[in-house]
Amino acid sequence: MSNSIDTTALHAGYVPGNGDPRQVPIWQSTTWKYATSDDMGKLFDLEASGYFYTRLQNPTNDFVAAKLCAMEGGFAGMLTSSGQAANFFAIFNICEAGDHFIASSSIYGGTYNLFGVTMKKMGIECTFVDQELPLEELQKFIKPNTKCVFGETITNPTVNILDIEKFAKLAHDNGIPLIVDNTFATPVNCRPIEFGCDIVTHSTTKYIDGHASSVGGAIIDSGNFDWMANKEKFPGLTTPDESYHGLTYATKFGKAAYITKATAQLMRDFGCIQSPQNAYYIQLGLESLPVRMARHCSNAQKVAEFLASDDRIAWVNYPGLETDKNHALAQKYCPKGTCGVLCFGVKGGREASIRFMDSLKLATIATHVADSKTLLLHPASHTHRQLTDEQLAEAGIPADLIRFSVGLEDPDDIINDIKQALDKIG
Ligand code: PLP
Repeated sequence: MSNSIDTTALHAGYVPGNGDPRQVPIWQSTTWKYATSDDMGKLFDLEASGYFYTRLQNPTNDFVAAKLCAMEGGFAGMLTSSGQAANFFAIFNICEAGDHFIASSSIYGGTYNLFGVTMKKMGIECTFVDQELPLEELQKFIKPNTKCVFGETITNPTVNILDIEKFAKLAHDNGIPLIVDNTFATPVNCRPIEFGCDIVTHSTTKYIDGHASSVGGAIIDSGNFDWMANKEKFPGLTTPDESYHGLTYATKFGKAAYITKATAQLMRDFGCIQSPQNAYYIQLGLESLPVRMARHCSNAQKVAEFLASDDRIAWVNYPGLETDKNHALAQKYCPKGTCGVLCFGVKGGREASIRFMDSLKLATIATHVADSKTLLLHPASHTHRQLTDEQLAEAGIPADLIRFSVGLEDPDDIINDIKQALDKIG
């Protein structure tokens, strides 16, 4: 296979044989038939590979996961029903009650709540850290029961860039893996594994699907983390699993241990499987992802430059701007561009930002982000509505922040829409 992401996006994963369908077929079947009871029994014992029930595995899902895995430069991958499920599985495959992990505080609000509230109820504690702290300061948050470190390549909604190498060092100095949510950058613009990340997650709902058609998630394992080197930290992977007749994932499956456990154990028990139909849409999205990401980035660059030049705009964050505090990190981790998402505030504060949003005609107000159409959201009124201005400041989200997700329209049309809305608010 070519090293080019453009070619990999089109050809990796599914390779049809003579007379096979050219496009990945949708295996719309819950189950598979076998000739003997013994054939089926071996599948249940993980002694033979094969499909038997779609909650565990489905060929359409596996071909699509294999493509995304190749694009990320990983060893093994799986799809999940949503990005939330992917991040939950990624952590819960390592941590159990009594364990602790570290996450950047600059992450998607839904993930923040999952880690800080819901997983806490399961007995797993998360410490949220300022990702800009130096390594020595971050080290102070590590405890004897810390099992992994988590961050987003490009943070939602503040579009800051994670220093992946710093976080990988923090994790590896302490014998634990780094998990990175690569949703906004996509493997087209950043491959976190090349910078030392061990496990990559995605909300495929965003750029990968790209057309607001299907919710989904994915986990890609680099296969690089040595679970046995610190075996006492990861009993779920390094000691026998009673629900699989005493099988030990790390010794039996080697580099495939993490994804095998997540599939055979977590997917079996929680059932957050992607539907083959949605996997097919994700497959279509992956094929054109490199072309779309380039256009998202060039459009966003033009919009960011316009916003930075207009004196009715209070501030703008876009790592592609040379003046942006994340520009150097963006050049290191995302040299081809970051993504289409940027954020800014309109002079006049929260009220002016809201009036501006309501005056737009082309760009639409939506919860979604990272889509073919230009979308925007005001976190203080929507996703973070329950927080006071002080609490918003603590979360690093100014009350006037507009999250603006630049789509694939003609950039002049997007900029003209912004101009007419700014004219209306005076
Ligand atoms: N990770 C990031 C960075 C996100 O932006 C989102 C959703 O916006 C998620 C995870 C959750 O994904 P999903 O909505 O597919 O469950």
